[in-house]
Amino acid sequence: MVLGIIMKELIDELRHIKLAIFDLDGVIYRGTSLIKDVDNVIQKLKSNSIEVVYNSNNSTATRDMYTKRLASMNIPSKREDFYTSASITAAELSKIKPNSLVYVIGEMGLKEELIIEGHTISDQTDFNSIDFIIVGLDRDFKYEKIVFAQKCLLDGKAQFYATNSDATLPIENGFLPGAGVMVQAIETCTGQKPIKIFGKPSPYGIKKILKDKNISPKNAAIFGDRLNTDIAAGNSAGIMTILLLTGVTSKDMLENLETDVKPDLVLTNLKEIFLD
Ligand SMILES: [Mg+2]
Repeated sequence: MVLGIIMKELIDELRHIKLAIFDLDGVIYRGTSLIKDVDNVIQKLKSNSIEVVYNSNNSTATRDMYTKRLASMNIPSKREDFYTSASITAAELSKIKPNSLVYVIGEMGLKEELIIEGHTISDQTDFNSIDFIIVGLDRDFKYEKIVFAQKCLLDGKAQFYATNSDATLPIENGFLPGAGVMVQAIETCTGQKPIKIFGKPSPYGIKKILKDKNISPKNAAIFGDRLNTDIAAGNSAGIMTILLLTGVTSKDMLENLETDVKPDLVLTNLKEIFLD
């Protein structure tokens, strides 16, 4: 007797897909809880020879931390499968100035990705030598951090970049303030906007994924729960976009929303990508 995984067929709209890019918060999990059936769907995609990667705007965790988090939810993965706004920011900064000196308003995930990429994290000394102010979600955000960032941007030579500008962060039963709050604080006291915001809706992450995986945009799809980040990024990168109603966007919101950002497909549950 031959034992094996029963191959399930993808719905017609997705038959051309070779690479599936998943947002994390609101698509794979909500807070610390796996969204129902997602682990099975990921496994089935892989057994259908579809490559799976993850693209999150959340810069607070390292890629190794995400690997562990998904393992605890029955989804095996490796560091290279993750493209976070932190890892994308670190890589893109190297193109502007490799081995730079940065002051970070953000958490360990962002700092470690910058260090892995060869940048040096500065404390609040010598504002004149700081190359970049990098802002992401910082749950230890303090007035003194704003004071130093302001000094570097107004009196020093530093340039302002951000990981993302999400207004909120979805958790199990609601929302927390997102990185956009920190970005706006620096904007307000300096009169400067970030030169670039590397996370979604910018297409830097998706373009890097397509290049690394050597996949044409027409064979890739992004699965996200937020129109103004996931779906907008997918649209500007020219890949297929699938909106999941398991996160921040509800059916009611979708019907009443006035926006030009339209997904190619809307699903209430990820398992709908397979035929019964
Ligand atoms: Mg999300």
